[in-house]
Amino acid sequence: MEAKKITIAGAGLVGSLLSVYLAKRGHKVSIYERRPDARKNTIDGGRSINLALSDRGLQALAKVGLEERVLAEMAIPMYRRVMHDKAGNLTFQPYGKEGQAINSVSRAGLNMLLMEEAEKHGVELHFSQACAAVNLENADATFVNREGQKAHVNSDLLFGADGAFSAVRGIMQKTDRFSYSQEYIDHGYKELEIPAGTDGSFLLEKNALHIWPRGNYMLIALPNPDASFTCTLFFPMEGDPSFESLDSVAKARSFFEEQFPDALALMPNFDKEWEENPDSSLVIIRCYPWTRNGKVALIGDASHAIVPFYGQGMNSGFEDCFVLDRLMGEGSDWDQILSAYEKERKPDGDAIADLAMRNFVEMRDLTGDADFLLRKKIEGRFSSKHPDKWTPLYSLVTFSPQVRYSEAQALGRRQDDLMAEIMAMPNIHEVWDSAEVEAKMLELAQRL
Ligand SMILES: Cc1cc2nc3c(=O)[nH]c(=O)nc-3n(C[C@H](O)[C@H](O)[C@H](O)COP(=O)(O)OP(=O)(O)OC[C@H]3O[C@@H](n4cnc5c(N)ncnc54)[C@H](O)[C@@H]3O)c2cc1C
Repeated sequence: MEAKKITIAGAGLVGSLLSVYLAKRGHKVSIYERRPDARKNTIDGGRSINLALSDRGLQALAKVGLEERVLAEMAIPMYRRVMHDKAGNLTFQPYGKEGQAINSVSRAGLNMLLMEEAEKHGVELHFSQACAAVNLENADATFVNREGQKAHVNSDLLFGADGAFSAVRGIMQKTDRFSYSQEYIDHGYKELEIPAGTDGSFLLEKNALHIWPRGNYMLIALPNPDASFTCTLFFPMEGDPSFESLDSVAKARSFFEEQFPDALALMPNFDKEWEENPDSSLVIIRCYPWTRNGKVALIGDASHAIVPFYGQGMNSGFEDCFVLDRLMGEGSDWDQILSAYEKERKPDGDAIADLAMRNFVEMRDLTGDADFLLRKKIEGRFSSKHPDKWTPLYSLVTFSPQVRYSEAQALGRRQDDLMAEIMAMPNIHEVWDSAEVEAKMLELAQRL
C-alpha cells in the first residue's frame, strides 16, 4: 500500500489507537489535539474515571499487540453484576460464562498508553491545536492554538476522531445530503467516589460492577486499581427527583440516605463532590455519510456517539479501527476503502446506539424485576447446557466480536419473541428449570 500523509484530529482513545494502526501500515501520521498533553497535566483534578473495556475493544488492541499489556497493567476484571437494594441486600448476575469478564480500566491511563505507543511508531503529536477548518476536497486543515495562531496542514487524508462534538463533522454537516441527528436523553450523570478503606482495601466486592437500580434512575460503581470505586449516578436532569430538584447538598444527602444508604455510608466526600462535580448530559449522535471524497472520514464518537449503558462507546470506536485496518489489508484505493468502511460500520453504529438505550431500561428498571431475573436465569441455564443453540444478547454484544452489532440486535429481537412464549408458560416461576421448559426452549431455538 502506498504510504500516505495522514492527519488525525483528536488524540482521544480512538484517534490515538487509529494512529497506531495507520503508522503500522507505513503511513506518515500526525495527530492534532485540542487539549494540552494529558501526560504533563493532571486532568479532571486527579479524579479517576474508568470505563468498561470488553472483547471488541480487546480484539482491536490485540491486533496492534497491546491487549496483554493493557490487561496486565491497568485492568480489573469484573465477572458479575452485584445489585444493591435499598435495604442493602445483594443479588448477583454473572456477565457471561465462567471466567468471562468485562474490564474496568482508567480512561486517562489507557489514553496515555495509546499516545505513548503512537509516538513509538513515529506518530507526531501536536497538543493545544484545535481543528477549525477542513477542505473536504483535498483534506487540507487549519488548526488553531491557544494564542489564536493558525497552522495550515496539507495531507492526503484526514480523520476526524474529535469526539461527539466533532469539528470535522461540523464542516461536513454544511454539505449537501449530509444527514445528522443529535438527541439529548432526559437523563444526565454525576461522578462520585467511594475511596479505599483506611487499610487500603476495597470497600465493596472488587471484581464486580455494582448497580443500585431504582426504576427511573440508578447508581453504578466500577473498581479502580487504587482500591477506590468510581460511582456514576444516572439521573433525570429535570422533574422530581432530578438534578434540578436536588438543588442543595442537604437535599441530595437526604435523598441518598433514603435511596442509596449503603453507598452513601462509603462516601466520606459526598457533600464536596455533589457540589463540585458537574451534572453532565448524555447525547446520541447519528450521521451519514461518514466520509467525503475518499479524503476525509469520521471515526469513533465523531461518527456515532451513544449513551454509555452497554459500555460500548469506546469498544465500538476501537472496532471501527479494527475494521478499517482489515479493509486496508484488502485493497489500496482509499475511495474504495472509505466507502466500504462507512457502509459496513453505519448499521453497526446504529444498532449499538439502540441497544445501549435498551440496556439503560434493563439496568435501572429491570435488574430488580422478578420476571426479568427469571428470564435471565432460564436463558443462562439453557445457554450453558446448549451453548451452540443460544447465546444471550448481552454476551453477543460484549463477548462475541465475531458477531456484528447489527446481527446481535436482530438475533436479540428474535430471542425476545421466543422468550415471551416461554415466560407465558403456566407456572413458569415454579417450573423454570424443568425438562418441559428445556424441551420447549429446544423447540423454539430451532426458529432462531
Ligand atoms: C459517563 C460515560 C461512561 C462511559 N463508559 C464507557 C464504557 O464503560 N465503555 C466504553 O466502551 N465506552 C464508554 N463511554 C464512551 C466513551 O467514553 C467514548 O465512546 C469514547 O471516549 C470515544 O472516543 P473518541 O476518541 O471517539 O472520542 P473522545 O474520547 O471524545 O476524544 C476526542 C478527542 O478529540 C479532541 N478534540 C475535540 N475537538 C477537537 C478539535 N476541534 N480539534 C482537535 N481535537 C479535538 C478532544 O479533546 C478529545 O481528546 C462512556 C462515556 C461516558 C460519557
